Amino acid sequence: MFDKILIANRGEIALRVVRACREMGIASVAVHSTADADAMHVRMADEAICIGPPSSAQSYLSFPAIISACEITGAQAIHPGYGFLSENAAFVQAVEDHDLTFIGPTAEHIRIMGDKITAKDTMKALGVPCVPGSDGGVPTLAEARRVAAEIGYPVIIKATAGGGGRGMKVAQSANDIESAFQNARSEAKAAFGNDEVYIEKYLTTPRHIEIQVFGDGKGKAVHLGERDCSLQRRHQKVLEEAPGPAITPELRERIGKVCADAVAKINYIGAGTIEFLFENDEFYFIEMNTRLQVEHPVTEGIFGVDLVREQIRVAAGQEMSFTQDDLQINGHAIEVRINAEKLPNFSPCPGKITQYHAPGGLGVRMDSALYDGYRIPPYYDSLIAKLIVHGRDRPEALARLARALGELILDGVDTTIPLFHELLNDPDVLAGDYNIHWLEKWLETHF
Ligand code: ADP
Repeated sequence: MFDKILIANRGEIALRVVRACREMGIASVAVHSTADADAMHVRMADEAICIGPPSSAQSYLSFPAIISACEITGAQAIHPGYGFLSENAAFVQAVEDHDLTFIGPTAEHIRIMGDKITAKDTMKALGVPCVPGSDGGVPTLAEARRVAAEIGYPVIIKATAGGGGRGMKVAQSANDIESAFQNARSEAKAAFGNDEVYIEKYLTTPRHIEIQVFGDGKGKAVHLGERDCSLQRRHQKVLEEAPGPAITPELRERIGKVCADAVAKINYIGAGTIEFLFENDEFYFIEMNTRLQVEHPVTEGIFGVDLVREQIRVAAGQEMSFTQDDLQINGHAIEVRINAEKLPNFSPCPGKITQYHAPGGLGVRMDSALYDGYRIPPYYDSLIAKLIVHGRDRPEALARLARALGELILDGVDTTIPLFHELLNDPDVLAGDYNIHWLEKWLETHF
């Protein structure tokens, strides 16, 4: 096992990894930009090292800064958290070239899944059901027209290099195919420096269901059920829950096994998430994330396992600490993402936290790097806290969420908390009756 791990991240996820390290008796090293000198992850880790100025490009994304920080502190492994360098194959390669261990999958797996066409082809070959669409990239408008007519409108044009919901355009009919095609290409070019796009059937009322998988890198893999992340705004998740209100044990068993078998076959190592759209009881693969997800705590809640601990174990060459049979679902968990954003436009709202009191009690988990007097810097993601609740069933979890939100005090900046108070009064949310478009529509008449 490692003696010391460096965490190449900030905020709540850096803290999350520090906590796992501490429970495992492993020393932790925080890295930080000058803007984060007073951050909680810096205070909580065993050691901290400044790696550059506020700009992420010169700090949290800087290979030389992070690798030098490992060499200076003697850390043997790097946990990337999510975002930043977590899905950067070149970084993984650089880490390995310096005889350090990357706590995550191989550069090769990251590369395969990072290119959406290759990912889809790979998954299809592994028996994972995919959204009907083009065979690979669609280079010309004429080809786009042909493919769209063949699969039938509406269609969605997506960037091969896509991420974060960018480079995606819907064409409702042949009338919009030209603008959708051109716009998706130029957005993809601007965001990813790669204008290749592909086409999929646009599903009109799907849920977003993702399967958590975990592999040992030696051909063994398990699944940890699903998370329903359908409540989204601009393709960004807002609330996640597990188990999914629409997923029966039979559906879970079926898709879970397909996913676990697929990652076992490619000797996948560590945590991964296979994302699907789910409509009329069918699953359609959209992408795989080769890292820990923001919403991993809901899965931890219902299975009672520590996914970060598990990532560290397998990265160190140890066996997974559970088998598929050990993984039994217990109750229901819900996470809400608290962002420093001002409603109704969700515009970023950095600033000083004048008062902070986290909720507690049975079944309440607050993953956050906030403290009284903390100044949220304007340079990074606006996620400042994740409130996760666990109950014996969905109604109990919902009641607990409402209770915990009521206890939470977070003053000084605007946040998305009022959104959740409102959502918890909505009959559709209470019934679990929503799809990926539900929240956008709801927001038109609220706030
Ligand atoms: P990204 O990597 O940019 O997040 P994804 O492929 O994961 O892109 O898609 C993000 C979101 O876009 C999905 O959760 C869903 O809301 C929507 N989406 C993607 N593909 C389709 C599709 N074929 N039909 C309907 N909605 C889609």
